[in-house]
Formats: sequence, structure tokens, C-alpha cells
Amino acid sequence: MANSRFEYVRSFERENYLLPDTWIVIRVDGRGFHRFSDRYNFEKPNDLRALTLMNESAKVVMRDITDVILAYGDSDEYSFVLRKQCQLFERRESKLISTFVSTFTAAYNQLWSVHMGPDAPLDVGHMPTFDSRAVVYPSDKILRDYLSWRQADCHINNLYNTTFWALVLKGNQTRTAAALRLKDTFSKDKNEILFSEFGINYNNEPEIFKKGTILLRVTKDVTLKNPQDLSERQLQREEKKLKKAEIQELHIDLIGDDFWNERPWILNN
Ligand code: ATP
Ligand code: ATP
Ligand code: MG
Ligand code: MG
Repeated sequence: MANSRFEYVRSFERENYLLPDTWIVIRVDGRGFHRFSDRYNFEKPNDLRALTLMNESAKVVMRDITDVILAYGDSDEYSFVLRKQCQLFERRESKLISTFVSTFTAAYNQLWSVHMGPDAPLDVGHMPTFDSRAVVYPSDKILRDYLSWRQADCHINNLYNTTFWALVLKGNQTRTAAALRLKDTFSKDKNEILFSEFGINYNNEPEIFKKGTILLRVTKDVTLKNPQDLSERQLQREEKKLKKAEIQELHIDLIGDDFWNERPWILNN
């Protein structure tokens, strides 16, 4: 196509190419889900249907984008880890984050009624939307620390929320009073409140609430060669296998070494 005299405006565009040979993590997070979850009467502190909806939406993203090797999610957020050699969109940041967040958001909206039931239709004034960012991590250790940070955050928030909602729903305290009661308390204090006042042993809470969700692609006989060393046809075949691969859902600890020692292929790609 011939260039028009307007073509020069393209020179105003700027592109951020994410550093090569580093782990790219894209995290999507629900916008204003504190209020959103109130608006649609999420069960507190944890609505299992809403967590399932998040997990199923993340699986849609993983099936669509085969560069994702692992995803971790809890509450209204999901982190997608892309393989180090990923060349999707030449690693252009804006293309990556916008594609991930729109695919995730589309899936979340499409699957909403499947998981939340037909009695809670979405209204246009209160649509679920998400933001997203990309960060690159240069080493395996830092990638592991990133995921550990998110899982630790899940635990801290969940212990707080479990105690807060026990005080409100079972202890008939106002939200303000419950928040005041928990101000400056340590984990052991919250465990104690749960146990002595409500007979709840936090350790027995469902693992999905305490640990969040890890998604992994279960790949059989996928070649371990570098994509650069494969022919176009081989690449297409690999891509097909990855898209069809089963996605495994886990609610286990990823902070300790066991998770990684048992699955060396994750960090080795
Ligand atoms: P922001 O737009 O800055 O992300 P936010 O209101 O979404 O603001 P977050 O820190 O992301 O704040 O917190 C998400 C909130 O959504 C949680 O604190 C909780 O109140 C609610 N929430 C998310 N998932 C669930 C769930 N499965 N069950 C109950 N509540 C949930
Ligand atoms: P990329 O993912 O790189 O954006 P693309 O296939 O979306 O690739 P675009 O340059 O965005 O490429 O072009 C969008 C294409 O979508 C158009 O070339 C046209 O074929 C099709 N298209 C978009 N809107 C319409 C429409 N309203 N009616 C018919 N075709 C359309
Ligand atoms: Mg949020
Ligand atoms: Mg959040």
C-alpha cells in the first residue's frame, strides 16, 4: 500500500521490547473487585465459584498462548509465566499485556454465568474488568521469589479475611469493629481468635483458599529442542500438542524446594 502523507505520525510510537532471555511475568488483577464482589454478592471471605471462574479464565489464556509454562492465581489476580525464550510479538510489552488482559477479560465475561449461575447476570454498569502489567525477572531465583511473594500474600490475606469475616458474620461485629480488633495483630493472634472464639482451625481450611492455584501444562513427548532449531512444520506440530495438552490444577506449596525439585522441567523449559 502506498504511503499516505499522514504516515509520519507513526514515528511518534514508542515500543518497549522486554529484555531477551529473561522470565516474563504478566499479572492481571481485577479492577475494584472489593466493590465488585459486594455488588455481585460473592460469598465472604472466599467465593469458590468466583475462584473457579478465575481459574477457568486463566486456562483459556494458557490454551490460547502456548508460551505460558506456569500460571499462579488467587483472589482477583493471575500471574502468567512465559518461557525465557518466548518471542511472541517480538517481546513487545504493550502487545503482550493487552493481549493477555483482553483474552482473560473476555473469558471471564463469557464464563461468568457458567460459574456464577444464571441468577446473577452482569449489568453493563458493573462489568468485570482487569488491569495488567509485565515484569521481567533475570534469574530462576528471582522468578521463584516472585511466585513465593504472591503465594505468601495469598496466605496473609486469607488469614486476615477468614478472621475478619468470622468476626463479622459469626461474631456479629461491625466491619469497623472487626478491622479495629485485627489492627496490629500477628498471625498467631488471628489463629487464636479463630480457634478459641469460633472453633475454626485455620490449618483445616481448604487448600485452594490458603495456597491459591497453580496451573501447569502436562506435556507428553514435546520436543525439548529450542524453537529456533525447529522447522516451520515441526513448530506447528509442537504448537498443536501444547494447545491440546491437559492443564493441571494444583493447590500446593511452591515456596519450598520440593515443588521445583519434583518438576525440574519448569525452570529448564
Ligand atoms: P484494585 O482495583 O486496586 O485492584 P481491588 O478492590 O480489586 O482494587 P484487590 O487488592 O485486588 O483490590 O482485592 C481484591 C478484593 O476482591 C479482595 O480483597 C476481596 O474483597 C475481593 N475478592 C476477590 N476474589 C474474591 C473471592 N473469590 N471471594 C470473595 N471476595 C473476593
Ligand atoms: P494483528 O493481530 O496483527 O492486529 P489482524 O489480522 O487483526 O492482525 P489488522 O491490521 O488489525 O490485522 O487488520 C484487521 C483486519 O480485520 C482487516 O484487514 C479486515 O480483514 C478485518 N476486519 C476488521 N474489521 C472488519 C469489518 N468491520 N468488516 C470486515 N472485515 C473487518
Ligand atoms: Mg483488584
Ligand atoms: Mg487483587
